[in-house]
Amino acid sequence: MPDQRALKNPYKDYDGTQNLFDPSTPSFAGQDCTGYRAGAGIALLYLHLHGVFGESSYLQRALEYVSRSLSLKPARWVTLPVWRRGARGPSRAVVLPPPAARPGRPTSCINRSELSPPFYTEAPPRPAYILPDDCCTARAGFLYSLVFINQQFRPGEDPHPICDAALASGESLAKRNRTQDQSPLMYEWYQEQYVGAAHGLAGIYYFLMQPGFVAGQDRVQSLVKPSVDFVCQLKFPSGNYPPCVGDERDLLVHWCHGSPGVIYMLLQAYKVFGVKQYLEDALQSGEVLWQRGLLKKGYGLCHGAAGNAYGFLALYKVTREARHLYRACMFADWCMNYGKHGCRTPDTPFSLFEGMAGTIYFLADLLQPMRSKFPAFEV
Ligand SMILES: [Zn+2]
Repeated sequence: MPDQRALKNPYKDYDGTQNLFDPSTPSFAGQDCTGYRAGAGIALLYLHLHGVFGESSYLQRALEYVSRSLSLKPARWVTLPVWRRGARGPSRAVVLPPPAARPGRPTSCINRSELSPPFYTEAPPRPAYILPDDCCTARAGFLYSLVFINQQFRPGEDPHPICDAALASGESLAKRNRTQDQSPLMYEWYQEQYVGAAHGLAGIYYFLMQPGFVAGQDRVQSLVKPSVDFVCQLKFPSGNYPPCVGDERDLLVHWCHGSPGVIYMLLQAYKVFGVKQYLEDALQSGEVLWQRGLLKKGYGLCHGAAGNAYGFLALYKVTREARHLYRACMFADWCMNYGKHGCRTPDTPFSLFEGMAGTIYFLADLLQPMRSKFPAFEV
């Protein structure tokens, strides 16, 4: 089926004969890494580069960007975009990247032509005290912030209260919508039941299945598992997933909408519950990624080739099958020809989630595939 949003994948698929470490395969090193605009996402990129290459100059650059971000006026909401760890000096301040441009409005990863009514509405900004649950702007993103703090310093931040609030919120909406028999949990973002990793169910459930996040495995079994199963049964015949519950258009293959983001929920469900079907669905998502993952939207993380390639790395980390690493390398080769495929220029061309910083983050991660993690998302 031709896909108007993806470019034809020109690469030969893995057939077991390719040597990933052959020097004649495309090189992923030596790309110029300059020209980013300021921002917390750029700080995270430099922190990552410091972790991969061990050069102290990267850490210094990260601190510079963190300091600049902390000098800005604080966000109205304290969620993933900005998280402060007290005024104890720069080494104790951690600023997380803003995948959403600004709380209060849908971001550019939601194209109104792709999500026409009733799947997209111009909702008024929420009051600050009503916190949604998604990854980009809300509780699940805040959970990642806690993980990040614990990883960077020492375990101490307790995720249970956030998970309790997320479960209560999900149960409440499922009851209000009278959908609890199909899905004990339900979440909305701007009055839509989004499915993908950025704003939807799959991203929230990915966090709620992390070991030790929800107090009581019985609640994971009784609330989260059937809710994950509800998402699973939304799968299109192609293996892709809709952007919203009830949307029957199989169009978007992005981390933010579609199988590239749902794959993390599926793999985590496989790890937690041991049900083979979750892995099979994740592998099917991998096929969707390979066929339709080189997006005309560009090379970024949220809705671009680099973000989609992280899905292959997620599969590789679970299965250890060379096919998935090979596919990630081919997408990296595509990214190394940045700007040569006629792709659109993103709204924020140097940012972590839409632009070049995210692509570089991915290319650096490919040097250590078993340790790779989609930034500001994978635990
Ligand atoms: Zn997006």
